[in-house]
Amino acid sequence: MRKHDGREVPGGTTAASRRAFLASAGGAVALVSGCSRPGESPAETAGARLDLQEFQPKSMLVVEEHLVPRARFPVIDAHTHVAHVFNRPGTPDSPLRGSPAEQFDQIVRWMDELNIELMVNFTSDAGERLERILSEVVNKYNGRFLTCVVPSFANLRESGYPARQAEEIARAKERGAAAIKIYKSFGLTLRENGKDGPLVKIDDPRFDPMWEEAGKLGMPVFIHTADPDAFFTPVDRFNERWEELANHPDWSFYGDQFPSKPELLAARNRVIERHPKTQFVCLHVANHPENLDEVSSWLDRYANMHCEIGARLGELGRQPRRARRFFEQHQDRILFGTDASPNGVSTPQQILIPEMYQCYFRFLETLDEYFDYAPAPVPPQGRWRIYGIGLPDDILKKVYHNNAARLLGLKAV
Ligand SMILES: [Zn+2]
Repeated sequence: MRKHDGREVPGGTTAASRRAFLASAGGAVALVSGCSRPGESPAETAGARLDLQEFQPKSMLVVEEHLVPRARFPVIDAHTHVAHVFNRPGTPDSPLRGSPAEQFDQIVRWMDELNIELMVNFTSDAGERLERILSEVVNKYNGRFLTCVVPSFANLRESGYPARQAEEIARAKERGAAAIKIYKSFGLTLRENGKDGPLVKIDDPRFDPMWEEAGKLGMPVFIHTADPDAFFTPVDRFNERWEELANHPDWSFYGDQFPSKPELLAARNRVIERHPKTQFVCLHVANHPENLDEVSSWLDRYANMHCEIGARLGELGRQPRRARRFFEQHQDRILFGTDASPNGVSTPQQILIPEMYQCYFRFLETLDEYFDYAPAPVPPQGRWRIYGIGLPDDILKKVYHNNAARLLGLKAV
């Protein structure tokens, strides 16, 4: 057994020092004030109130730990935002430092240590940004990164837009884009005239030529629709992600100005149904890991639907028996992904550092009990811990690598 804190980790710094960094850099929550006197720690005052943000209970369980520093099989991380390197410079105490090129070199060293063969980048566009990523990342690192094109939804109302959008996708493919990414604003906040006018519907027929073209070109569509169930319910004391929403108030989509979550998911599913030759990867466990029975029924219904697990360890790992069955049932349609963001200190569940990846490896490969789903002093998406599902080798290989490889036209391992 090894202790988590203070151990040496790849990259030269310790887990504890990175945690301290995350703790100091993460957003603070203003909560009920405690009633301790000056100089007195509320935590030491029996019977007193305690600020939720100060509550960091240590588990008293003595259970086996099987840390997994390196994935058992080569990994394709099908959901990353590595191109954030270009707009999030590292500060002197952040895990990634230096110029964009130096930061990418560091990321590649971590990939080698962690057994990550390839990362797919989602932070892009259909123009200059895409060009820069292709020339400075995809072409330079030879097989370690692929990128998506993010279609433009400007000029939606112009005649000829649908055909032009399909052409844009085809041109991006020619230039080297491997897949298409659709951001969550699509359906949720995108309006006819950009910020005003009626909301644009996900299954609007104007996008049919784009979905069809994606199928013809063999480009998978990575689509982010809606968000956790708790983001669509009132932000009150019953909300299980209250603390996270207090840290990120703009993540709440509760209210009349937003479509309901079932409406959004139903519109996405209609698109998937209407374009059976196009492969759709629905991010974040189709954004409904709270109800794996329902996601499972969609996967049964739509042969061209796939899902990816990024930033949802906290959901999967708190229902390990149902999650394990889900992976068994849909072993050919689940992709490994993390939503990794370089220097994403306000979202520790997806910060691109080795410890974030090691949480996933431990969940997928071991039967460990009650451990953190993110490298953070307080579980950032809800105050619970998770349990491993110990997948067998044949399923692990598919989830880590081969399912994504098949969709991206790469070799299996
Ligand atoms: Zn993402």
